[in-house]
Amino acid sequence: MNTIPLVDLSLQHKRLRDEIAGAVQGALDRGDFILGQDVSRFEEEFAEYCGVKYAVGVDNGLSALELSLRAFGIGPGHEVILPAHTFTATAAAISFTGATPVFVDVNPETWTIDVHKIEEAITPRTKAILPVHLYGLPADMNVVLGIAEKYNLIVVEDACQAHGAMYKGQRVGGIGNAAGFSFYPTKNLGACGDAGIVTTNDSNVAEKIRTLRNCGQRVKNVHEDHPFNHRLDNLQAAILRVKLKYLDEWIASRRRLAALYNTLFDDALVEKPVELPGYQHVYHLYVIRTQNRDSLQTLLKERGIGTAIHYPMPVHLQPYYLKNGTPQFSCPVAEKLVGEILSLPMYPELTEEQVSAVVSEIKSLEVKSH
Ligand SMILES: *Cc1c(COP(=O)(O)O)cnc(C)c1O
Repeated sequence: MNTIPLVDLSLQHKRLRDEIAGAVQGALDRGDFILGQDVSRFEEEFAEYCGVKYAVGVDNGLSALELSLRAFGIGPGHEVILPAHTFTATAAAISFTGATPVFVDVNPETWTIDVHKIEEAITPRTKAILPVHLYGLPADMNVVLGIAEKYNLIVVEDACQAHGAMYKGQRVGGIGNAAGFSFYPTKNLGACGDAGIVTTNDSNVAEKIRTLRNCGQRVKNVHEDHPFNHRLDNLQAAILRVKLKYLDEWIASRRRLAALYNTLFDDALVEKPVELPGYQHVYHLYVIRTQNRDSLQTLLKERGIGTAIHYPMPVHLQPYYLKNGTPQFSCPVAEKLVGEILSLPMYPELTEEQVSAVVSEIKSLEVKSH
């Protein structure tokens, strides 16, 4: 039995070897390393891809979210609403501004923020909502935007897992007031190291983030704002420019493989990811739900099939977010979900035969979900 990894980045780098080498060599020849031409060109190209006016490259996805919140003046004394089921960085972006993360439970079907529980979490200190397009599926943005308008709140999208995903005909990244993307190597568009970007249609926000990422300078040697260094590395931007041309092809491949998983899985066997009408999921991760998750994961490992759990603990129960060891929030759907989810192999170069092999193994193991 040959092994099937959860993700294999070597295949995309083998295919793009010469193009990436050429892009990196070009930057080396120009000595173009800090906020160079690849950074500004990539910003233009990514903004165009997302259908937004501005994109500002930063050093990772966490910074993209943190600087977005800071650009809207969010800080100490403020509260920001986010889903309990996400990567820790979503909450960290809020904490690092000095604001307080307010965790809301997730929808039991889509696993993104439960939009019907947002209003009860709003207080006079609430300044923003930070929905997450989890696993590549957009959050229910029309409801989020409606609540934001009613209470005069900012919306920052966590699009770190959702490059290219669509919601009611619109690409994510341009739906809220700003959005943060990560180019962590395994993301749908990944650098060869850390990188991130903010997208927005607001010129003031774009300018503020350009200042914040570069030692608080709008004018050279005048440090008027927090003197952070959150710049996007030019070599990473050069590599991202090469890879952006392939993103739509890679998304199509992920969607084809997800459709095959969905067809092959028996409804009685596992709960499959949902994609409601009007949504275009980009399957950063293909996640199933089953009550026998732990035994299934162990058995698949023995058969050479790579899996992972994204994520095994809701963020409001992480030690960093407990007060005196006690949870401050109750999110029962997320608390149950984390014990039952399993991410299966998913990457554009995965073959249909490999998907069939994964499903056959799971069927042969006869681990029933309900
Ligand atoms: C990856 C990710 C981030 C953070 O991105 P980094 O580039 O690793 O800082 C934030 N939110 C979500 C949902 C992510 O998946």
